[in-house]
Amino acid sequence: MKALLVVADGMADRPIKELDGKTPLEVARKPAIDFIAQSGICGIVDVISPGIPPGSDTGNLALLGYDPFKYYSGRGALEAIGWGLEVKKGDVCLRCNFATVDENLIVLDRRAGRISNEDASKLAESLQRVDLSESSVKFTFQNTIQHRAVLVLQGSNLSTAVSDSDPKKIGMKVLEVRPLEKSFEASFTAKILNELMQKFHNVLKNHEVNVDRINRGLPPANIVLFRGAGNIPCIPTLSEIYHVNAASIAATPLVRGVCKVAGMRVLNVEGATGTPQTNYLNKAKAAVQALSEDNALVFLHVKATDVASHDGDYMQKILIIEKIDNMLSYIIDHVNLEEVYIAITADHTTSCVTRNHEGDPVPLAIAGPYVRRDDVKEYNERSCAKGGLGRIKGINVMPTLMNLIGKAEKFGS
Ligand code: ZN
Ligand code: ZN
Repeated sequence: MKALLVVADGMADRPIKELDGKTPLEVARKPAIDFIAQSGICGIVDVISPGIPPGSDTGNLALLGYDPFKYYSGRGALEAIGWGLEVKKGDVCLRCNFATVDENLIVLDRRAGRISNEDASKLAESLQRVDLSESSVKFTFQNTIQHRAVLVLQGSNLSTAVSDSDPKKIGMKVLEVRPLEKSFEASFTAKILNELMQKFHNVLKNHEVNVDRINRGLPPANIVLFRGAGNIPCIPTLSEIYHVNAASIAATPLVRGVCKVAGMRVLNVEGATGTPQTNYLNKAKAAVQALSEDNALVFLHVKATDVASHDGDYMQKILIIEKIDNMLSYIIDHVNLEEVYIAITADHTTSCVTRNHEGDPVPLAIAGPYVRRDDVKEYNERSCAKGGLGRIKGINVMPTLMNLIGKAEKFGS
């Protein structure tokens, strides 16, 4: 027996006035997803805990069975690992933004006009050549998508107990990084980050890419803002817990990072972009392929639903749900339903009205040979609330699946 867990990021929603009080899931035409609900068992999931809006990192960690209150150690490390950087225990990772400041270090644009990947990577290359006064510390700075970047500090005497330099608001001055505890390590790390911030600023100020940007009427990316210092979380892998091989299909660096620390094989799929234009069919094919190989668990993540929700674009969200349905339809047609359990859920609710992650529960449906089928006919927030799984927590989802495929260990004798 095998299991496929499909997570559509932020797919759950709240009723929307313009949709006659329905949610995008209630409006979308989605025969394949409804088939999973009809032939399966349904429920709703408090991914973290009732009323707590999950991030995509904590939400996906929870769905993989890890208690985020116990294992979460910041987004920076997960994003860095997901981007393919080598991160070791004790390294300090930070999330970074290329931003625009004036001569008094007042932030004018936190995203440097959503700078292109091309400009950002030229700048990042120059920043990587900066010398630190402390030779015991090495750093890796890498741009990721648009204005986003990651910074990894490696060496001894480092600490994650440091504040952000990112003031998180325009019109505010860039903050000095401060130690958040009275330790040598925290002061030392703050000093290094302040030095890097200053040296990066000096390189960026007069960089030819920025001169060119100003000439083109674009905001220069003349500073790098740091936030969210964290370590790699030390968690037992899925194969250590359940003795299974697991593979994941996800494009978003953060989610790829979560899957990597869980010990999953993270597959690269052509055309998978983490955007609404992602190649849904290639993702479906990759999932079918991974299930045909030696993987008892395949995790398939789609980011696009969350992107549309943050834009408040409920019509696009409906279309994306229908594309996810096509993806599921291909999978249902190409796997043996006598051997594969298919589960579908979301890592959190993202409201198209508030444009934010919310703490409302998300629907879950699991189809497979031996589930106790219930009366739910449609997959959505309201129908699934009447299902046989009732209301469970995010960390219950993975044990539920592992139990179904015969990989759960008995508690007691
Ligand atoms: Zn998410
Ligand atoms: Zn989101």
